[in-house]
Formats: sequence, C-alpha cells, structure tokens
Amino acid sequence: MALNVIMLGPPGAGKGTQAERFAHGRGIPKISTGDILRKAVEDGTEIGGLVKAIMDRGELVNDEVMTGIVRDRLEKADARSGFVLDGFPRTVAQAVALDDMILDRGSLLVIDIVVPETELVRRLAGRMICADCGANAGEAAESGSLAGTKAHPGRCRRCGGALVQRADDSNGVVRERLKVYHCQTEPLVEYYRRRPTFRSVNGAQPPDTVATDLETAVDAAHRVAMAASGGVPR
Ligand code: AMP
Repeated sequence: MALNVIMLGPPGAGKGTQAERFAHGRGIPKISTGDILRKAVEDGTEIGGLVKAIMDRGELVNDEVMTGIVRDRLEKADARSGFVLDGFPRTVAQAVALDDMILDRGSLLVIDIVVPETELVRRLAGRMICADCGANAGEAAESGSLAGTKAHPGRCRRCGGALVQRADDSNGVVRERLKVYHCQTEPLVEYYRRRPTFRSVNGAQPPDTVATDLETAVDAAHRVAMAASGGVPR
C-alpha cells in the first residue's frame, strides 16, 4: 500500500526539514506547495504573478489554485507509490479535496508536528534558506549532495548558494502567518484527529529525535491502514 503522508503543523514546526528527510529515506517525493509557489514566482509564471503579493503578506492562496496544483503533481508517476505533502492541505476545503483525489490510492497517514508558539517565533526569526536552490539551511546540511563536506558559513551545503532570510519570515509577516495558521489550518487537526491513521509528534525536540518519532508514527499509522484494508496492497 502506498505511503500517502501529510504533515500538519504551524510554520516553523520543522515540517519541511522532516518531510524532506523522511521522503528521501523512503524513496518517495516530498511535495511542498510553498516550494512550488516560490518557484512559480521566481520563474515568472502566470500563477507566480497571481500569488506573489498574497505570499508576501503571509496570507493563503485560494483553494481552487492550490487544489489544482496538487492534483496535477500527484498524477505524476513518481507519486504513485506514495508522497509526503508539506504545506497542503491548509484549509478544510483543501483537505476534503485531497480525500477525494486519493480515494483509490489507499489511506492518508496524518502527522501533526506540535511545537509551542514561543519556540516557533524564535525559530522563524533565525531560519535561513538558499537563494539559489531554495533549500532550508538545516535541510541542505543534512541531505544535500555537498553534505559531509566542509561547510562554508552563509553558504548552502547543497549547491553553494548564498543563504538568505525568506521574505515571509520577517517579523510582521511571521505574526500574520501564525494568525492564519490558527484560524484556517489548525481546524484541520480536528478534521483528522479521530482517524485511526492520525498521529501527533513532539516537534520541540532535537531534529534527530523528531525524525525517529516521525518514522515510528508513520509506520504505526501505516500498519493500522493496512490492517483496515485487510492487508491488501493497493
Ligand atoms: P510554506 O512554505 O508552506 O510556509 O508556504 C509559503 C506560503 O505559500 C504561505 O504563506 C501561503 O501564502 C502559500 N501557500 C503554500 N501552501 C499553501 C496552501 N496549501 N494553501 C494556501 N496557500 C499556500
């Protein structure tokens, strides 16, 4: 049965880094809607033009656009044996659309990464990404092709690009993104909580410990999903 994983949690919870690491380890794609949108802005596509100002304000892009992007991405061959979605769904409407998209593809395994608000603000203020490849500085250090080589301060370990603060990690925008999270995305936890494939992971631990807990949580949720489907791979 395919490993269909979604990662819930506020901005700064470590979803991106953990999703990258987990997906890499299992040989399935990490699909980050934030990365897809930032690339569209950078490439100057039509969608990029539509979403730039919304992202700069820390608000959410509309559900139809996001659902279309994810539907197209999940249809690619590399996502057939599973995926890790990072940053989607972010509203109940997106969650309902996702359930519909994967109806014939096995269960959704839902991981909620929990981190206290004070820690989130501290992390977001210090977060750096690569200006060239978009990798998170922590993530690039762990899984990049240059990992293990001597780090250059202020440089991406994956591609050597300069590390910069994300435009929407600046102080005012961070507060707006956390507000948007509480109003529009946190209700998703209630949407999923009663499912047997829902698991919470404590994200306020060292990254290696979070990664181990995440593996355990996904495997446990997957076993439950397999048992529910009679163990028949889909
Ligand atoms: P992220 O990198 O996941 O924090 O996303 C950065 C920004 O992209 C968000 O603040 C939103 O403006 C936009 N975005 C990413 N994913 C979504 C989504 N699923 N729904 C709406 N907007 C999104």
